Amino acid sequence: MRIETELRFDFDDVLIRPKRSVAPSRASIELKREYRYQTTPSEKGWAGIPIIASNFDTVGTMRMATTLHEWNMLTCLHKYYPLEELVAFFTNNPASHSTFYTLGIRDEDFDKFRAFVERMGKCPRLLCVDAANGYTKFFVDRVKQVRAMCPQATIMAGNVATPEMVQELLIEGRVDIVKVGIGPGSVCTTRTMTGVGYPQLSAIIECADAAHGNKGHICADGGCRVPGDAAKAFGAGADFVMLGGMLAGTDECEGEWVIADGKKKSLRFYGMSSREAQEKHLGGVKDYCAAEGKSVEVMYKGPVAGVLQDVTGGLRSACAYVGANRLKDLFKCCTFVRCTSTHNTVYD
Ligand code: 5GP
Repeated sequence: MRIETELRFDFDDVLIRPKRSVAPSRASIELKREYRYQTTPSEKGWAGIPIIASNFDTVGTMRMATTLHEWNMLTCLHKYYPLEELVAFFTNNPASHSTFYTLGIRDEDFDKFRAFVERMGKCPRLLCVDAANGYTKFFVDRVKQVRAMCPQATIMAGNVATPEMVQELLIEGRVDIVKVGIGPGSVCTTRTMTGVGYPQLSAIIECADAAHGNKGHICADGGCRVPGDAAKAFGAGADFVMLGGMLAGTDECEGEWVIADGKKKSLRFYGMSSREAQEKHLGGVKDYCAAEGKSVEVMYKGPVAGVLQDVTGGLRSACAYVGANRLKDLFKCCTFVRCTSTHNTVYD
């Protein structure tokens, strides 16, 4: 046993220090980022606002992908769309340029993916290889197999939370983006059930450093409960920020709505490793496993555009407070101050 005594931080443990500057006007602040990926030809880079909808079966929907495409943002589709629907979507929709095909690590997921590539006659442009635990050799081998099959796709893989595994995925797995986050999700119970996790702000800082030293990128996944958390994630060095719970309950979601007086009141929202999700998609929780997610009801939030407006507005304002003209500059302009509690008001 060993104990690391250096403090690590979550979003709530810090605030961004305001700085004197020639304040850029918020309207002129550029949120669009442009990325070129090492392992793919330069024309396969990407430009847009680096926010990604997470692959919950309620949030990572085709409707979400269509709306986020209009906002120049990205979506990871959930893993449970039938093959035919995926083929139709990727064939007929311009949104497919900003939509990740999400691949789980079960053999069935890989078989479906292989069938998808055969039907399409090509790999998807954006590919997300998703596992709750990105630390296993099995996962790295699966990532390598996918890379060998799709040498030109932009591949995002995770989740991990420490630099050595970021390097492993970038160097051995030849992925373009590493997804970072073990335990911070809004409906995740990994920390409670296993005692395992890593404070998300520190995970982003440490993993971004490891990725950028290897010409890679990271996506900060999980734990953003308010727009300011996304600003902190970018300030800490994230190239992309993934949102689940913040987008849950918007019109673009699918699932079980609670309706009252003919109107949407709330949406049933659950972790993808929760008992509810496993019963729905995998025939139940295996008797040697514990569910590592929970089920909640999230209030109806209206069209996702309202949340996106808050997130983009919050990011622009964060940039203005520290004198950054572009989201790209937020990292270098950002100083965090440690605090006991950030006293966020509830965001709803
Ligand atoms: P949120 O934005 O809701 O805080 O976090 C979203 C992330 O939580 C997802 O992108 C995914 O990485 C993670 N997640 C989703 N479902 C579960 C779950 O059931 N268990 C765990 N441990 N993490 C989950």
